Amino acid sequence: MHYVSTRATPESSARNPQAFSDILLGGLAPDGGLFLPAEYPQVTGAELDAWRKLPYAELAYEILRKFATDIPDADLKALTAKTYTADVYRNARAGDSAADITPLRTLESDGDKKLVMQALSNGPTLAFKDMAMQLLGNLFEYALAKNDEQLNIFGATSGDTGSAAEYAMRGKRGIRVFMLSPHKKMSAFQTAQMFSLQDPNIFNIAVEGVFDDCQDMVKAVSNDLSFKARHKIGTVNSINWARVVAQVVYYFRGYLAATTNNAQKVSFTVPSGNFGNICAGHIARMMGLPIDQLIVATNENDVLDEFFRTGVYRVRKSAETFHTSSPSMDISKASNFERFVYDLVGRDSERVRALFRKVDTEGGFDLSGGPGSDGDEFAKVAQYGFASGKSTHADRLATIRDVFTKTGLTLDTHTADGVKVAREHVRPGVPMIVLETALAAKFNETILEALGRNAQRPAGFENIEALPQKFVVMQANVDEMKSYIAAHTGL
Ligand SMILES: *Cc1c(COP(=O)(O)O)cnc(C)c1O
Repeated sequence: MHYVSTRATPESSARNPQAFSDILLGGLAPDGGLFLPAEYPQVTGAELDAWRKLPYAELAYEILRKFATDIPDADLKALTAKTYTADVYRNARAGDSAADITPLRTLESDGDKKLVMQALSNGPTLAFKDMAMQLLGNLFEYALAKNDEQLNIFGATSGDTGSAAEYAMRGKRGIRVFMLSPHKKMSAFQTAQMFSLQDPNIFNIAVEGVFDDCQDMVKAVSNDLSFKARHKIGTVNSINWARVVAQVVYYFRGYLAATTNNAQKVSFTVPSGNFGNICAGHIARMMGLPIDQLIVATNENDVLDEFFRTGVYRVRKSAETFHTSSPSMDISKASNFERFVYDLVGRDSERVRALFRKVDTEGGFDLSGGPGSDGDEFAKVAQYGFASGKSTHADRLATIRDVFTKTGLTLDTHTADGVKVAREHVRPGVPMIVLETALAAKFNETILEALGRNAQRPAGFENIEALPQKFVVMQANVDEMKSYIAAHTGL
Protein backbone atom coordinates (compact mmCIF):
# COMPACT_ATOMS: atom_id res chain seq x y z
CA MET A 1 0.00 0.00 0.00
CA HIS A 2 1.39 3.37 -0.92
CA TYR A 3 0.06 6.89 -0.80
CA VAL A 4 -0.28 9.55 -3.46
CA SER A 5 -0.97 13.25 -3.30
CA THR A 6 -4.25 14.67 -4.63
CA ARG A 7 -2.14 17.24 -6.53
CA ALA A 8 0.68 14.96 -7.72
CA THR A 9 1.78 14.53 -11.29
CA PRO A 10 1.92 10.88 -12.47
CA GLU A 11 5.73 11.17 -12.65
CA SER A 12 6.21 12.49 -9.12
CA SER A 13 3.97 9.88 -7.49
CA ALA A 14 5.61 7.05 -9.42
CA ARG A 15 9.04 8.34 -8.45
CA ASN A 16 8.19 8.92 -4.85
CA PRO A 17 5.66 6.45 -3.40
CA GLN A 18 4.99 7.15 0.26
CA ALA A 19 4.44 4.49 2.90
CA PHE A 20 2.09 4.96 5.86
CA SER A 21 4.96 5.72 8.24
CA ASP A 22 6.35 8.34 5.85
CA ILE A 23 3.17 10.41 5.98
CA LEU A 24 2.26 9.69 9.61
CA LEU A 25 4.01 12.68 11.16
CA GLY A 26 3.45 15.10 8.29
CA GLY A 27 0.61 17.31 7.12
CA LEU A 28 0.21 18.48 3.56
CA ALA A 29 2.06 16.73 0.73
CA PRO A 30 5.03 18.77 -0.52
CA ASP A 31 3.01 19.77 -3.61
CA GLY A 32 0.25 21.22 -1.38
CA GLY A 33 -2.13 18.28 -1.86
CA LEU A 34 -3.47 15.72 0.61
CA PHE A 35 -2.37 12.09 0.80
CA LEU A 36 -4.69 9.21 -0.11
CA PRO A 37 -4.03 5.52 -0.76
CA ALA A 38 -3.12 4.83 -4.39
CA GLU A 39 -6.02 2.35 -4.30
CA TYR A 40 -8.62 1.72 -1.62
CA PRO A 41 -8.20 -1.72 -0.04
CA GLN A 42 -11.33 -3.84 -0.50
CA VAL A 43 -13.21 -5.87 2.08
CA THR A 44 -14.83 -9.19 1.25
CA GLY A 45 -18.12 -10.56 2.54
CA ALA A 46 -16.17 -13.25 4.38
CA GLU A 47 -14.15 -10.57 6.19
CA LEU A 48 -17.28 -8.67 7.18
CA ASP A 49 -18.78 -11.90 8.53
CA ALA A 50 -15.67 -12.62 10.56
CA TRP A 51 -15.54 -9.05 11.87
CA ARG A 52 -19.11 -9.05 13.20
CA LYS A 53 -18.10 -10.47 16.55
CA LEU A 54 -14.79 -8.68 17.03
CA PRO A 55 -14.22 -6.25 19.89
CA TYR A 56 -13.47 -2.69 18.74
CA ALA A 57 -9.70 -2.90 19.24
CA GLU A 58 -9.43 -6.02 17.07
CA LEU A 59 -11.66 -4.56 14.38
CA ALA A 60 -9.43 -1.47 14.39
CA TYR A 61 -6.40 -3.72 13.95
CA GLU A 62 -7.96 -5.58 10.99
CA ILE A 63 -8.85 -2.36 9.19
CA LEU A 64 -5.67 -0.43 9.96
CA ARG A 65 -3.41 -3.23 8.80
CA LYS A 66 -4.84 -2.76 5.32
CA PHE A 67 -3.56 0.82 5.33
CA ALA A 68 -0.45 0.69 7.53
CA THR A 69 1.25 -2.16 5.70
CA ASP A 70 4.74 -1.04 6.78
CA ILE A 71 4.01 -1.45 10.51
CA PRO A 72 4.58 -5.04 11.69
CA ASP A 73 1.27 -6.76 12.54
CA ALA A 74 2.27 -7.53 16.12
CA ASP A 75 3.16 -3.88 16.77
CA LEU A 76 -0.08 -2.62 15.24
CA LYS A 77 -2.09 -5.10 17.27
CA ALA A 78 -0.42 -3.89 20.47
CA LEU A 79 -1.06 -0.25 19.54
CA THR A 80 -4.77 -0.74 18.83
CA ALA A 81 -5.19 -2.89 21.96
CA LYS A 82 -3.60 -0.15 24.06
CA THR A 83 -5.76 2.58 22.46
CA TYR A 84 -9.27 1.17 22.45
CA THR A 85 -9.65 0.01 26.05
CA ALA A 86 -12.04 0.51 28.91
CA ASP A 87 -9.36 2.60 30.64
CA VAL A 88 -9.79 5.24 27.95
CA TYR A 89 -13.50 4.93 27.11
CA ARG A 90 -15.68 5.34 30.18
CA ASN A 91 -18.75 3.60 28.75
CA ALA A 92 -16.90 0.30 28.39
CA ARG A 93 -16.67 -1.71 31.57
CA ALA A 94 -13.15 -2.30 32.81
CA GLY A 95 -12.02 -5.86 32.21
CA ASP A 96 -14.70 -6.55 29.61
CA SER A 97 -12.78 -6.77 26.35
CA ALA A 98 -15.99 -7.38 24.42
CA ALA A 99 -17.60 -4.15 25.67
CA ASP A 100 -18.68 -2.00 22.76
CA ILE A 101 -17.02 1.38 23.05
CA THR A 102 -19.25 2.90 20.32
CA PRO A 103 -22.71 1.50 21.17
CA LEU A 104 -25.81 2.25 19.10
CA ARG A 105 -28.98 3.61 20.61
CA THR A 106 -32.32 3.85 18.82
CA LEU A 107 -33.69 7.40 18.85
CA GLU A 108 -36.78 6.93 16.70
CA SER A 109 -38.54 4.03 15.06
CA ASP A 110 -41.56 4.50 12.80
CA GLY A 111 -42.61 1.41 10.86
CA ASP A 112 -39.57 0.45 8.81
CA LYS A 113 -37.92 3.85 9.29
CA LYS A 114 -35.30 3.86 11.98
CA LEU A 115 -33.00 6.54 13.37
CA VAL A 116 -30.15 5.42 15.63
CA MET A 117 -27.22 7.21 17.22
CA GLN A 118 -23.69 5.84 17.47
CA ALA A 119 -21.94 7.01 20.65
CA LEU A 120 -18.43 8.23 19.84
CA SER A 121 -17.83 10.70 22.63
CA ASN A 122 -16.91 8.65 25.65
CA GLY A 123 -13.18 9.29 25.47
CA PRO A 124 -11.26 11.63 27.78
CA THR A 125 -12.40 14.93 26.20
CA LEU A 126 -16.04 14.00 25.56
CA ALA A 127 -15.90 14.44 21.78
CA PHE A 128 -15.45 12.03 18.87
CA LYS A 129 -12.00 13.46 18.09
CA ASP A 130 -10.61 11.24 20.86
CA MET A 131 -11.41 8.17 18.74
CA ALA A 132 -8.66 9.07 16.27
CA MET A 133 -6.41 11.28 18.36
CA GLN A 134 -5.83 8.65 21.06
CA LEU A 135 -4.54 6.28 18.38
CA LEU A 136 -2.41 9.05 16.91
CA GLY A 137 -0.73 9.63 20.28
CA ASN A 138 0.28 5.98 20.48
CA LEU A 139 1.33 5.80 16.81
CA PHE A 140 3.46 8.94 17.16
CA GLU A 141 5.18 7.68 20.30
CA TYR A 142 5.87 4.35 18.58
CA ALA A 143 7.26 5.92 15.38
CA LEU A 144 9.41 8.46 17.22
CA ALA A 145 10.89 5.87 19.59
CA LYS A 146 11.81 3.66 16.64
CA ASN A 147 14.00 6.38 15.15
CA ASP A 148 14.98 8.00 18.44
CA GLU A 149 13.36 11.27 17.35
CA GLN A 150 11.27 13.96 18.95
CA LEU A 151 8.30 16.01 17.82
CA ASN A 152 6.97 19.34 19.05
CA ILE A 153 3.33 19.71 18.15
CA PHE A 154 2.34 23.32 17.63
CA GLY A 155 -1.28 24.28 17.03
CA ALA A 156 -4.13 26.63 17.69
CA THR A 157 -7.52 25.67 19.05
CA SER A 158 -10.84 27.19 19.94
CA GLY A 159 -11.84 24.03 21.79
CA ASP A 160 -12.22 20.38 20.80
CA THR A 161 -9.11 19.71 18.71
CA GLY A 162 -6.62 21.17 21.16
CA SER A 163 -7.97 19.30 24.14
CA ALA A 164 -8.19 16.01 22.22
CA ALA A 165 -4.55 16.47 21.11
CA GLU A 166 -3.34 17.27 24.62
CA TYR A 167 -5.11 14.29 26.19
CA ALA A 168 -3.70 12.03 23.49
CA MET A 169 -0.12 13.29 23.80
CA ARG A 170 0.16 13.84 27.57
CA GLY A 171 3.00 11.86 29.08
CA LYS A 172 4.12 10.51 25.68
CA ARG A 173 7.88 10.13 25.28
CA GLY A 174 9.51 12.30 22.63
CA ILE A 175 6.46 14.55 22.24
CA ARG A 176 5.66 18.04 23.49
CA VAL A 177 2.48 19.99 22.75
CA PHE A 178 2.40 23.78 22.46
CA MET A 179 -1.26 24.76 22.12
CA LEU A 180 -2.43 28.32 21.54
CA SER A 181 -5.93 29.37 22.52
CA PRO A 182 -7.56 32.81 22.64
CA HIS A 183 -7.24 34.12 26.22
CA LYS A 184 -10.58 34.05 28.07
CA LYS A 185 -12.53 33.19 24.91
CA MET A 186 -13.16 29.47 25.48
CA SER A 187 -15.91 28.23 27.81
CA ALA A 188 -14.94 27.67 31.45
CA PHE A 189 -15.37 23.93 30.92
CA GLN A 190 -13.14 23.77 27.84
CA THR A 191 -10.52 25.98 29.46
CA ALA A 192 -10.48 23.80 32.55
CA GLN A 193 -10.21 20.64 30.47
CA MET A 194 -7.02 21.86 28.84
CA PHE A 195 -5.41 24.00 31.50
CA SER A 196 -5.85 21.51 34.33
CA LEU A 197 -3.36 19.16 32.66
CA GLN A 198 -0.18 19.26 34.72
CA ASP A 199 1.95 17.01 32.49
CA PRO A 200 5.40 18.50 31.90
CA ASN A 201 5.13 17.89 28.11
CA ILE A 202 1.95 19.99 27.72
CA PHE A 203 2.27 23.77 27.25
CA ASN A 204 -0.93 25.81 27.22
CA ILE A 205 -0.44 29.29 25.80
CA ALA A 206 -3.32 31.75 26.20
CA VAL A 207 -2.92 34.44 23.56
CA GLU A 208 -4.21 37.99 24.08
CA GLY A 209 -6.50 38.04 21.03
CA VAL A 210 -9.05 35.97 19.13
CA PHE A 211 -8.74 32.55 17.49
CA ASP A 212 -7.59 34.06 14.17
CA ASP A 213 -4.64 35.71 15.98
CA CYS A 214 -3.65 32.28 17.31
CA GLN A 215 -3.90 30.76 13.85
CA ASP A 216 -1.84 33.59 12.33
CA MET A 217 0.90 32.88 14.89
CA VAL A 218 0.91 29.19 13.96
CA LYS A 219 1.19 30.11 10.28
CA ALA A 220 3.99 32.61 10.94
CA VAL A 221 6.03 30.07 12.89
CA SER A 222 5.33 27.29 10.36
CA ASN A 223 6.44 29.52 7.48
CA ASP A 224 9.86 29.91 9.10
CA LEU A 225 11.18 26.64 7.66
CA SER A 226 14.54 26.70 9.37
CA PHE A 227 12.96 27.32 12.79
CA LYS A 228 10.45 24.59 12.05
CA ALA A 229 13.17 22.09 11.15
CA ARG A 230 15.48 22.99 14.03
CA HIS A 231 12.72 22.67 16.62
CA LYS A 232 11.03 19.61 15.04
CA ILE A 233 7.68 21.39 14.76
CA GLY A 234 4.71 19.35 13.58
CA THR A 235 0.92 19.53 13.65
CA VAL A 236 -2.02 17.22 14.32
CA ASN A 237 -4.71 19.00 12.33
CA SER A 238 -7.65 17.31 10.68
CA ILE A 239 -5.89 16.62 7.37
CA ASN A 240 -3.56 14.13 9.09
CA TRP A 241 -4.11 10.86 7.23
CA ALA A 242 -3.84 8.62 10.31
CA ARG A 243 -6.67 10.55 11.94
CA VAL A 244 -8.90 9.99 8.92
CA VAL A 245 -8.13 6.29 8.70
CA ALA A 246 -8.70 5.72 12.44
CA GLN A 247 -12.19 7.14 11.88
CA VAL A 248 -12.94 4.59 9.16
CA VAL A 249 -13.14 1.92 11.89
CA TYR A 250 -16.29 3.17 13.59
CA TYR A 251 -18.23 3.21 10.31
CA PHE A 252 -17.54 -0.52 10.06
CA ARG A 253 -18.45 -0.99 13.72
CA GLY A 254 -21.70 0.96 13.29
CA TYR A 255 -22.63 -1.01 10.19
CA LEU A 256 -21.91 -4.37 11.82
CA ALA A 257 -23.88 -3.43 14.95
CA ALA A 258 -26.94 -2.25 12.98
CA THR A 259 -27.17 -5.24 10.62
CA THR A 260 -27.26 -9.03 10.79
CA ASN A 261 -26.07 -9.87 7.28
CA ASN A 262 -24.10 -8.21 4.50
CA ALA A 263 -27.07 -7.85 2.16
CA GLN A 264 -28.37 -5.09 4.44
CA LYS A 265 -27.41 -1.46 4.06
CA VAL A 266 -27.21 1.46 6.44
CA SER A 267 -26.84 5.23 6.00
CA PHE A 268 -24.87 7.69 8.10
CA THR A 269 -25.51 11.33 8.93
CA VAL A 270 -22.41 13.20 10.04
CA PRO A 271 -22.28 16.64 11.74
CA SER A 272 -19.55 18.16 9.60
CA GLY A 273 -17.01 20.96 9.62
CA ASN A 274 -13.69 20.18 8.01
CA PHE A 275 -15.07 17.07 6.28
CA GLY A 276 -12.64 14.78 8.14
CA ASN A 277 -15.25 12.63 9.82
CA ILE A 278 -17.46 12.06 6.77
CA CYS A 279 -14.40 11.61 4.56
CA ALA A 280 -13.73 8.47 6.60
CA GLY A 281 -17.27 7.32 5.76
CA HIS A 282 -16.58 7.87 2.08
CA ILE A 283 -13.45 5.74 2.37
CA ALA A 284 -15.35 2.96 4.18
CA ARG A 285 -17.91 3.00 1.36
CA MET A 286 -15.17 2.90 -1.29
CA MET A 287 -13.72 -0.15 0.51
CA GLY A 288 -17.00 -1.94 -0.10
CA LEU A 289 -18.88 -1.37 3.17
CA PRO A 290 -22.59 -1.50 2.22
CA ILE A 291 -23.40 2.15 2.93
CA ASP A 292 -26.46 3.57 1.16
CA GLN A 293 -26.27 7.32 1.88
CA LEU A 294 -23.70 9.61 3.49
CA ILE A 295 -25.47 12.75 4.67
CA VAL A 296 -23.43 15.87 5.40
CA ALA A 297 -25.05 17.94 8.16
CA THR A 298 -23.89 21.54 8.55
CA ASN A 299 -24.90 24.40 10.80
CA GLU A 300 -25.40 28.01 9.62
CA ASN A 301 -21.92 27.77 8.08
CA ASP A 302 -23.24 25.88 5.09
CA VAL A 303 -20.37 25.86 2.58
CA LEU A 304 -20.63 22.05 2.33
CA ASP A 305 -24.42 21.95 2.18
CA GLU A 306 -24.26 24.46 -0.66
CA PHE A 307 -21.88 22.23 -2.61
CA PHE A 308 -23.92 19.07 -2.09
CA ARG A 309 -27.10 20.87 -3.14
CA THR A 310 -25.75 22.83 -6.12
CA GLY A 311 -22.27 21.68 -7.14
CA VAL A 312 -20.83 25.10 -6.29
CA TYR A 313 -17.99 25.19 -3.76
CA ARG A 314 -17.61 28.73 -2.45
CA VAL A 315 -15.36 29.28 0.56
CA ARG A 316 -16.48 31.96 3.00
CA LYS A 317 -14.58 35.03 4.15
CA SER A 318 -14.01 35.32 7.89
CA ALA A 319 -16.60 38.11 8.07
CA GLU A 320 -19.12 35.66 6.53
CA THR A 321 -18.39 32.95 9.09
CA PHE A 322 -20.97 32.76 11.89
CA HIS A 323 -20.20 32.01 15.53
CA THR A 324 -22.86 29.44 16.32
CA SER A 325 -23.98 27.22 19.18
CA SER A 326 -22.36 24.25 17.39
CA PRO A 327 -18.96 25.98 17.29
CA SER A 328 -16.86 22.97 16.22
CA MET A 329 -18.61 23.16 12.84
CA ASP A 330 -17.94 26.89 12.34
CA ILE A 331 -15.69 26.69 9.30
CA SER A 332 -15.17 28.87 6.26
CA LYS A 333 -13.67 26.10 4.10
CA ALA A 334 -13.48 22.35 4.60
CA SER A 335 -9.86 21.22 4.73
CA ASN A 336 -10.48 17.53 3.90
CA PHE A 337 -12.94 18.18 1.08
CA GLU A 338 -10.15 17.95 -1.50
CA ARG A 339 -9.88 14.22 -0.79
CA PHE A 340 -13.45 13.65 -1.95
CA VAL A 341 -13.05 16.00 -4.92
CA TYR A 342 -10.06 13.92 -6.05
CA ASP A 343 -12.24 10.81 -6.27
CA LEU A 344 -15.16 12.75 -7.75
CA VAL A 345 -13.06 14.00 -10.70
CA GLY A 346 -11.77 10.49 -11.38
CA ARG A 347 -8.50 10.89 -9.44
CA ASP A 348 -7.25 13.41 -11.97
CA SER A 349 -4.68 15.36 -9.94
CA GLU A 350 -4.25 17.85 -12.77
CA ARG A 351 -7.93 18.80 -12.40
CA VAL A 352 -7.62 18.95 -8.61
CA ARG A 353 -4.67 21.31 -8.90
CA ALA A 354 -6.59 23.59 -11.24
CA LEU A 355 -9.75 23.57 -9.10
CA PHE A 356 -7.92 24.42 -5.88
CA ARG A 357 -5.84 27.05 -7.63
CA LYS A 358 -9.19 28.59 -8.45
CA VAL A 359 -10.18 28.40 -4.78
CA ASP A 360 -7.07 30.49 -3.99
CA THR A 361 -7.57 33.02 -6.75
CA GLU A 362 -11.36 33.25 -7.07
CA GLY A 363 -12.67 31.77 -3.83
CA GLY A 364 -14.21 28.59 -5.22
CA PHE A 365 -15.24 26.45 -8.16
CA ASP A 366 -18.38 25.20 -9.84
CA LEU A 367 -18.94 21.57 -10.87
CA SER A 368 -22.65 22.01 -11.62
CA GLY A 369 -22.25 21.61 -15.38
CA GLY A 370 -24.06 24.91 -15.93
CA PRO A 371 -22.85 27.67 -18.29
CA GLY A 372 -19.29 28.76 -17.47
CA SER A 373 -18.83 26.02 -14.86
CA ASP A 374 -15.57 24.18 -14.20
CA GLY A 375 -17.01 20.73 -14.86
CA ASP A 376 -20.15 18.60 -14.58
CA GLU A 377 -19.08 16.08 -11.93
CA PHE A 378 -21.80 17.24 -9.55
CA ALA A 379 -24.10 14.84 -11.42
CA LYS A 380 -22.03 11.96 -9.97
CA VAL A 381 -22.26 13.06 -6.32
CA ALA A 382 -25.31 10.87 -5.65
CA GLN A 383 -23.46 7.78 -6.97
CA TYR A 384 -21.06 8.29 -4.09
CA GLY A 385 -24.03 8.27 -1.72
CA PHE A 386 -23.71 11.93 -0.77
CA ALA A 387 -26.53 14.29 0.13
CA SER A 388 -26.75 17.09 2.69
CA GLY A 389 -28.78 19.41 4.87
CA LYS A 390 -28.34 22.30 7.26
CA SER A 391 -29.52 23.24 10.71
CA THR A 392 -29.88 26.54 12.57
CA HIS A 393 -29.85 27.61 16.21
CA ALA A 394 -33.65 27.36 16.32
CA ASP A 395 -33.55 23.84 14.78
CA ARG A 396 -30.90 22.84 17.30
CA LEU A 397 -32.97 23.97 20.29
CA ALA A 398 -36.12 22.31 18.93
CA THR A 399 -34.30 19.03 18.25
CA ILE A 400 -32.68 18.95 21.70
CA ARG A 401 -36.09 19.54 23.32
CA ASP A 402 -37.89 17.02 21.15
CA VAL A 403 -35.38 14.19 21.62
CA PHE A 404 -35.22 14.90 25.35
CA THR A 405 -39.00 14.74 25.66
CA LYS A 406 -39.28 11.51 23.64
CA THR A 407 -36.25 9.60 24.91
CA GLY A 408 -34.87 11.37 28.00
CA LEU A 409 -31.57 11.75 26.18
CA THR A 410 -29.77 15.11 26.07
CA LEU A 411 -28.08 15.62 22.69
CA ASP A 412 -25.11 17.91 22.28
CA THR A 413 -25.60 20.80 19.87
CA HIS A 414 -23.58 19.29 16.98
CA THR A 415 -25.29 15.93 17.26
CA ALA A 416 -28.62 17.77 17.31
CA ASP A 417 -27.73 19.31 13.93
CA GLY A 418 -27.11 15.76 12.73
CA VAL A 419 -30.45 14.46 14.00
CA LYS A 420 -32.32 17.40 12.44
CA VAL A 421 -30.79 16.69 9.03
CA ALA A 422 -30.98 12.88 9.37
CA ARG A 423 -34.75 13.02 9.80
CA GLU A 424 -35.01 14.62 6.35
CA HIS A 425 -33.19 11.71 4.70
CA VAL A 426 -34.29 8.46 6.41
CA ARG A 427 -35.35 5.78 3.91
CA PRO A 428 -37.58 2.80 4.68
CA GLY A 429 -35.66 -0.38 5.46
CA VAL A 430 -32.29 1.35 5.80
CA PRO A 431 -31.25 2.24 9.36
CA MET A 432 -29.97 5.84 9.56
CA ILE A 433 -27.03 6.14 11.95
CA VAL A 434 -26.30 9.63 13.29
CA LEU A 435 -22.78 9.98 14.60
CA GLU A 436 -22.66 11.55 18.06
CA THR A 437 -19.76 14.00 17.90
CA ALA A 438 -19.75 15.32 21.48
CA LEU A 439 -21.48 15.02 24.85
CA ALA A 440 -23.95 17.72 25.87
CA ALA A 441 -21.93 18.69 28.97
CA LYS A 442 -19.36 20.38 26.73
CA PHE A 443 -21.94 22.85 25.40
CA ASN A 444 -24.05 23.40 28.48
CA GLU A 445 -25.01 26.99 27.76
CA THR A 446 -27.22 25.91 24.86
CA ILE A 447 -28.62 22.94 26.79
CA LEU A 448 -29.69 25.36 29.50
CA GLU A 449 -31.33 27.53 26.86
CA ALA A 450 -33.13 24.55 25.29
CA LEU A 451 -34.19 22.61 28.38
CA GLY A 452 -33.98 25.09 31.25
CA ARG A 453 -31.68 22.70 33.07
CA ASN A 454 -28.00 21.77 33.01
CA ALA A 455 -26.60 18.89 31.02
CA GLN A 456 -25.46 16.02 33.15
CA ARG A 457 -21.70 15.75 33.53
CA PRO A 458 -19.99 12.38 33.42
CA ALA A 459 -18.34 11.18 36.62
CA GLY A 460 -15.01 12.85 37.23
CA PHE A 461 -15.97 16.13 35.54
CA GLU A 462 -18.18 17.57 38.31
CA ASN A 463 -15.69 20.11 39.66
CA ILE A 464 -13.27 20.42 36.79
CA GLU A 465 -13.34 24.26 36.86
CA ALA A 466 -11.98 24.20 40.43
CA LEU A 467 -8.82 22.24 39.56
CA PRO A 468 -5.47 24.07 39.54
CA GLN A 469 -4.58 25.37 36.07
CA LYS A 470 -1.23 25.51 34.27
CA PHE A 471 -0.88 28.04 31.42
CA VAL A 472 1.00 31.14 30.33
CA VAL A 473 -0.50 34.31 28.88
CA MET A 474 1.28 35.84 25.90
CA GLN A 475 0.86 38.72 23.45
CA ALA A 476 0.28 37.80 19.80
CA ASN A 477 3.96 38.34 19.11
CA VAL A 478 5.78 35.88 16.84
CA ASP A 479 9.29 36.52 18.19
CA GLU A 480 8.16 36.09 21.77
CA MET A 481 6.42 32.86 20.76
CA LYS A 482 9.52 31.52 19.05
CA SER A 483 11.75 32.20 22.03
CA TYR A 484 9.22 30.51 24.33
CA ILE A 485 9.24 27.40 22.14
CA ALA A 486 13.04 27.45 21.79
CA ALA A 487 13.45 27.73 25.56
CA HIS A 488 11.24 24.70 26.16
CA THR A 489 12.38 22.35 23.42
CA GLY A 490 16.03 22.72 24.37
CA LEU A 491 16.93 22.22 20.69
C1 LIG B 1 -14.54 18.48 15.00
C2 LIG B 1 -16.00 18.39 15.29
C3 LIG B 1 -16.97 18.32 14.27
C4 LIG B 1 -16.61 18.42 12.80
O1 LIG B 1 -15.88 17.30 12.35
P1 LIG B 1 -15.09 17.37 10.95
O2 LIG B 1 -14.27 16.15 10.92
O3 LIG B 1 -14.25 18.63 11.03
O4 LIG B 1 -16.09 17.46 9.85
C5 LIG B 1 -18.31 18.16 14.62
N1 LIG B 1 -18.68 18.13 15.92
C6 LIG B 1 -17.79 18.20 16.93
C7 LIG B 1 -18.29 18.17 18.34
C8 LIG B 1 -16.42 18.33 16.67
O5 LIG B 1 -15.54 18.42 17.68
